Amino acid sequence: MNASDLTSSSSINNKAKQLNVDVVIFGGGVAGLWLLARLRQLGYQTLLLETQSLGAGQTRYSQGIIHGGAKYALIGKLTASTESIFAMPQIWRDCLEGKGEVDLSSATVLSSHQYMWSTPGLLSRISGFFASRVMRGRMLAVKKNDRPVIFQNKKFKGKVYQLDEPVLDSASVINALATPNINNIMHINAVTEFSEKQFSVEAVNGEIWNITAEKIILSAGEGNSALLKQMGRTVPEMQLRPLQMVMVRGGLPEKLYAHCLGASVNPRITITSNEDKQGNIVWYLGGQLAEEGIDRTAEEQISKAKKELQSLMPWLNFSAMQWATLNINRAEPKQKEGKRPDTSFLYEDNNVITTWPTKLALAPNLAADVLKQLKKQNVKKSGANEMPDFSHAKISDLPWQEEEKWQR
Ligand SMILES: Cc1cc2nc3c(=O)[nH]c(=O)nc-3n(C[C@H](O)[C@H](O)[C@H](O)COP(=O)(O)OP(=O)(O)OC[C@H]3O[C@@H](n4cnc5c(N)ncnc54)[C@H](O)[C@@H]3O)c2cc1C
Repeated sequence: MNASDLTSSSSINNKAKQLNVDVVIFGGGVAGLWLLARLRQLGYQTLLLETQSLGAGQTRYSQGIIHGGAKYALIGKLTASTESIFAMPQIWRDCLEGKGEVDLSSATVLSSHQYMWSTPGLLSRISGFFASRVMRGRMLAVKKNDRPVIFQNKKFKGKVYQLDEPVLDSASVINALATPNINNIMHINAVTEFSEKQFSVEAVNGEIWNITAEKIILSAGEGNSALLKQMGRTVPEMQLRPLQMVMVRGGLPEKLYAHCLGASVNPRITITSNEDKQGNIVWYLGGQLAEEGIDRTAEEQISKAKKELQSLMPWLNFSAMQWATLNINRAEPKQKEGKRPDTSFLYEDNNVITTWPTKLALAPNLAADVLKQLKKQNVKKSGANEMPDFSHAKISDLPWQEEEKWQR
């Protein structure tokens, strides 16, 4: 940024400082931060604005699974567009090894793969899936002695498959993406005014900044809708698909990363594992349990989760464990009948690009699509000039590490 770019301005707010950049991104979840890293590498002078902490939206609630398309293959919903997800695990692995498009070598891989287990009545369906051309080499039947200890129990009657899908600690991904770019991230209270290509924000230290940018990118998850409204725009429309997730801790025998295949197209339950602040194993439960649990009270949802785990793993005793629930919305572009979108999403109107990755795993795909747009339109690249000093946003904790969430 040139010295002349940081001046007192009277265009929107006459007490404000002025900042001129090539691209502004709203939102420091995985989508905004991945894009920030890519844009800076390519020489776009970029500023990211965040109203809370980095990862504070859906990203920190994510189960961290880098989907490789097993879900789509399972429900027979493979199209050219859904096939983009098949490339994701390898793209992420390259980044985790420090040789990919962004450097995630400091991020934590919780598990290099996921398991899928079936209950006896469902074996015919899973064998069709196993035989499907697209899943060949991506899903392996696991011999009894190689299974997670939980599924080596004599009472377990199902089958276990290993899926080629890593599971990551989402806070460590946010940390790896944000740290090298922290000087380009401004922590703001609010956007106070919008006009074409120019707007004012109030930073958390009370400073007002007038910002001009050639492109404005909305990657604010659920916050996109309010930003669009503030800009006087009615499209694209957003949908929210709520979840009531469950956490359990206290005496769990091991960390587990596994989907249970149920009668529906969605996994009956998806278990990922983390640690609380004291280092206890926490199972984080999603899948159908979380989707169908949105109208239950927290007590009802916990009772349902207990019954579900007890029926799937009757050899374990869940009665003395500690439970908690988390309500969180998935924010996505509006679909017919509120269905799940299959791909990442981008909508451009003049200088504003609205995005939803729709999955953590698809953040690289979304960034690639945005970059194509910017290249096509010859958006200027002013280089990695220094940013002025402003308040930087912090990185969020993960929900299972917040003791108050367990106390409710
Ligand atoms: C419970 C759950 C589990 C999931 N599990 C998986 C999984 O295992 N694998 C997978 O691939 N996907 C998963 N997903 C989906 C995935 O988490 C999301 O698609 C992804 O994290 C969305 O990232 P994002 O950056 O678009 O949005 P968010 O993570 O929601 O980030 C948006 C950011 O914008 C900020 N913001 C909001 N308003 C403003 C504003 N006005 N100005 C500036 N900043 C603003 C917010 O504070 C936030 O930091 C899961 C989602 C949920 C809810």
